[in-house]
Amino acid sequence: MATSLTGGDINIKGRVSCDSLDHQSRPAKRRRSSQQSDLIGQNGFIGKPLEPNLFDCQQKSTMDDCVDGSQSTGRMSRELDADTSHNTPNESVTSASIISHFPFKKSVSPSIFLRADLESSSPSIFKPTPSTPDTEKCKPRSSIPARLPAPVYAQQCISAAFASRLNPYALHKNEQMALQDHLCHLHVTVYLNIRNGILRLWTRNPMVRVTREEAFGCAKDQRWVNLAAFAYEWLVRNGYINFGCVDVPDALVLNNRRRRKDGPVVVIIGAGMSGLGCARQLEYLFRQYRDNAASARVIVIEGRRRIGGRIYSHPLKSHQATRFAPEFRPTAEMGAQIVVGFERGNPLDVIIRGQLALRCHLLRDISTIYDIDGSPVDELRDAMDERLYNDVLDRSGLYRHQAVMSPTAEGDRELINSGRDWSLDDGVSVRQYEEARAAGTIGLLLPAKRIRRGVGHKTSDLVSAGAPLTDLRSAEDRPAALECQSMGWKLRDGVSVNNTLNLDLVGRASDSQTLGAVMDEGVRQYQRMLPLTSKDMRLLNWHFANLEYANAANVGKLSLSGWDQDMGNEFEGEHAQVIGGYQQVPRGLWCFPTKLDVRTNKAVTKVVYDIAGTSGRKAMVHCEDGETVSADKVIFTGSLGVLRHGSVQFQPPLPDWKIAAIDRLGFGIMNKVVLVFDEPFWDVDRDMFGLLREPKDAGSMDQGDYSANRGRFYLFWNCVKTSGLPVLIALLAGDAAHQAEHQTDAEIIGEVTSQLRNIFKNATVPDPLETIITRWGLDKFTRGSYSFVASEALPGDYDLMAKSIGNLYFAGEATCGTHPATVHGAYLSGLRAASEVIESILGPIHVPTPLVPAKSKQTEPGTPVEQKRNEPSSVPGKIQARSNNSFPSESTLREAYEQAMWTALYAELGPPEPRPAKIGLNPFLLYQKDFWYKAKERSDDARRATSKNPNAKATRDEIRHTLGRMWRDASELEKRPYLEQIAVNRQTNSELWDRWKENISEWEKKTYEFKDRWCEANPFEIWQPGNSIKIAFVSQTATRPSSRTISAPSQPNADVDDNDSVGGTTVERPDPATKAL
Ligand SMILES: Cc1cc2nc3c(=O)[nH]c(=O)nc-3n(C[C@H](O)[C@H](O)[C@H](O)COP(=O)(O)OP(=O)(O)OC[C@H]3O[C@@H](n4cnc5c(N)ncnc54)[C@H](O)[C@@H]3O)c2cc1C
Repeated sequence: MATSLTGGDINIKGRVSCDSLDHQSRPAKRRRSSQQSDLIGQNGFIGKPLEPNLFDCQQKSTMDDCVDGSQSTGRMSRELDADTSHNTPNESVTSASIISHFPFKKSVSPSIFLRADLESSSPSIFKPTPSTPDTEKCKPRSSIPARLPAPVYAQQCISAAFASRLNPYALHKNEQMALQDHLCHLHVTVYLNIRNGILRLWTRNPMVRVTREEAFGCAKDQRWVNLAAFAYEWLVRNGYINFGCVDVPDALVLNNRRRRKDGPVVVIIGAGMSGLGCARQLEYLFRQYRDNAASARVIVIEGRRRIGGRIYSHPLKSHQATRFAPEFRPTAEMGAQIVVGFERGNPLDVIIRGQLALRCHLLRDISTIYDIDGSPVDELRDAMDERLYNDVLDRSGLYRHQAVMSPTAEGDRELINSGRDWSLDDGVSVRQYEEARAAGTIGLLLPAKRIRRGVGHKTSDLVSAGAPLTDLRSAEDRPAALECQSMGWKLRDGVSVNNTLNLDLVGRASDSQTLGAVMDEGVRQYQRMLPLTSKDMRLLNWHFANLEYANAANVGKLSLSGWDQDMGNEFEGEHAQVIGGYQQVPRGLWCFPTKLDVRTNKAVTKVVYDIAGTSGRKAMVHCEDGETVSADKVIFTGSLGVLRHGSVQFQPPLPDWKIAAIDRLGFGIMNKVVLVFDEPFWDVDRDMFGLLREPKDAGSMDQGDYSANRGRFYLFWNCVKTSGLPVLIALLAGDAAHQAEHQTDAEIIGEVTSQLRNIFKNATVPDPLETIITRWGLDKFTRGSYSFVASEALPGDYDLMAKSIGNLYFAGEATCGTHPATVHGAYLSGLRAASEVIESILGPIHVPTPLVPAKSKQTEPGTPVEQKRNEPSSVPGKIQARSNNSFPSESTLREAYEQAMWTALYAELGPPEPRPAKIGLNPFLLYQKDFWYKAKERSDDARRATSKNPNAKATRDEIRHTLGRMWRDASELEKRPYLEQIAVNRQTNSELWDRWKENISEWEKKTYEFKDRWCEANPFEIWQPGNSIKIAFVSQTATRPSSRTISAPSQPNADVDDNDSVGGTTVERPDPATKAL
């Protein structure tokens, strides 16, 4: 699994602590500082619910599939069938046959239903919206805030690209494929500026879709609008913008009387995160590209009686009253629980916080690990063992498969950073340029002065295609004994500091060696070097268990070379839990903005598909209840476990390459034990605590003896803050997860309760009121928990899993190589599948020719944004006078009216105070400044030693890597000044923020008063541009007209740049309050 799912402390592939700092995310989270806890105490709840609770608009939760093989015991029985207070997608399904053409009265989505009887004179079925923009409607620059300094705007665009998982400075490989023969290499910068600008619009307010016109407004010149058109299409189709529960444009369908044609029918099997995400996206895309002739339909078929798949927030019955408001149902997470960081590209940020505005609880570090006698483990010892574990893990990284990077065309970093374009055209296409660059013949292609500038274009920095991403060897260069000494370990007598581990014998033993074998060997060799005790062994194995949680498998099953093939894609920010249940997320996707056509309790048994996909033959989806659905496209989102089990038959059988990938990849098990108590007896302010376990033979020093037991309740989640009840969830990882599948409930509950009594000796630990034990391996709709890279797996297997076959497509976490085994990975796979289906229907995005018309004489290379803006664009926008001989439309007048009001408002109140810039909160970055040169020296030395070249220099990545290690290894004393500085910064940030919030809300209040007065003094009906009454003369006690309905150019409490200007007039894209605050 890509990312460990515990709280922030164990965030990268089971590596602990400071690793997060390598990614510039947050301070080490293994131990929480008091500073942190205070802050989280105040800010732990983020977001504001729009809906009281998404459970309320959902279907009934059923337990009969328990769900997922989980079982409940205890004093309270789970009478979930009696829980009928929630409507269900089943309601919309009748029992009539659903072969081929569905009667519209059935569960079509409202939009389709509404349009079902409408017709069109157009013979077309489904047409892409032409990429060639209507130049009349395009207003270059209209989405670029006029008041914002170009570099600030540029930084916002760059951040938006990062927040969308795109490189702001380079084309995505698919963008490059589409554009390389049409785009001049010098225009890559312009394209990227536009594309990043569109992303900026989206990330600033994902409640509202970005329109095509807004996207065109990101071009700075009419000449670039085709680039904007392409960028918009590409971002929309690939789910980088306008995804999730975003509004759908109203149907612009003419109501004439001819019969409406049936558009394509897409059937999605599975209503988990990938299936629902895909369905929601297809609904949007079909609307985006609809014409008025045809209705496309998206139907989701789900085997269970509920939606959500591996996200299941099980209602708890033990307590009638919870700590929460009545709209929150107390639930416990049977499956996914943790959002592993919202920052740096997690699409769930947009959905959870941006669109559904669900409240989240930010997780704090693990506080205590308890030993077998129930005593808390000494922090120092714990830290030393943690470092030793990290060291072994690092050294096993030497055998990692080296990823290859195929660089794509880059723009000019300098220009992008400063928000400028490069408008010259030298007739050399991106393809020609990139090919020459890769071949090292760029000098022959272009005179030197025309070679693009910027970091990516310095020849010395060029990495040719196929070169290893980074050379990881330097990480393991230091002798192990020396390394251990610096961690605080004392070496055994006779062990020299130059002694090191030799893992080659095991590591290179076979191509399918496991991570576990090498790590076990590492521990064994360290036993010879260090005076390790059985307590150290228990601690080390606690970390092994945690790695096994992240991967849902014993480390002895993980591929040594590829277990962390998704490395580098981790998101940043605090880990979080959705308060009131994660299931609100799939339910939100199902419901908003209009309900999807989801048919539950309908297990699919067979899929007959068209392997060639060219004959236009329909696919047939056979269900267990005897119904058959005909479809143009089928998307299978069932788990890898389901595929492997063969419970769905494919006809023709899946090709060998697909079967081989299914067999090679791993699908593991991770289970949970939910314990509901009457009263908490643990520290409810801590989110989790750990537990060390005895090996098979008590006190054993044999690493093999630990593997069976180490994952048994190794971690307890305290879920009081997210479930509203005194709930603990104990984890069963590695072998323990498998054992639980066959053990009785009584055995498991007996053991976990006695472990708790051992820890909390001073409290009375009663029998739990209610218990639930998941058994995901037995669950017939999943057959396990999540995928992992098994020892036989090959690089690229996840891509094979994703690959479509004719009209059969695949989505699901196990098809997402960049973020496998996660909710966000499942969601991203759904977006990918939706984009493939759309492409198969519409064809590739049309690239207009010429993509960029010949340069007009005015355009200057490198013209900064600001320079072009000195004529009409002061904020608020310039008002066009109402001419005597023209009759402007009501909307134009209304626009001008609003602008006049805003002009007056700004004149009186001034602009809103800009949001204060945040002072950095990452101690590692401070440390980095001080130690960069030292790290560079070390890295250069290492580089010289390995390359045997006395002049070799380390790359920046290597230096960063060294810095990361230096930070991890730095003593508390060394780190203290940085941590203290961060504490000061945090305090300052908080003060600045509070002051700003106060000022801005005061300003906002004044704007309302002002607007009321101004509108009173200048009624729209008689208003003429230029004759607005200065409101200073207007009575302050005027009654309030409809001024609140006038939209402001920006939310006053949004960022400084919100006054976007449209060719001299002002448009708005307000940040939602949730984002702004
Ligand atoms: C115990 C556990 C803990 C986890 N913790 C986390 C976490 O903290 N954070 C995180 O990001 N991820 C976590 N995950 C992983 C995450 O839950 C999954 O990666 C994600 O939910 C998978 O979504 P999906 O759509 O790919 O598959 P699923 O959610 O499995 O959806 C597939 C759907 O297909 C349906 N289906 C299957 N077969 C058929 C059939 N024959 N006919 C009709 N329908 C069928 C299933 O019922 C299911 O609803 C956890 C998973 C488990 C099991």
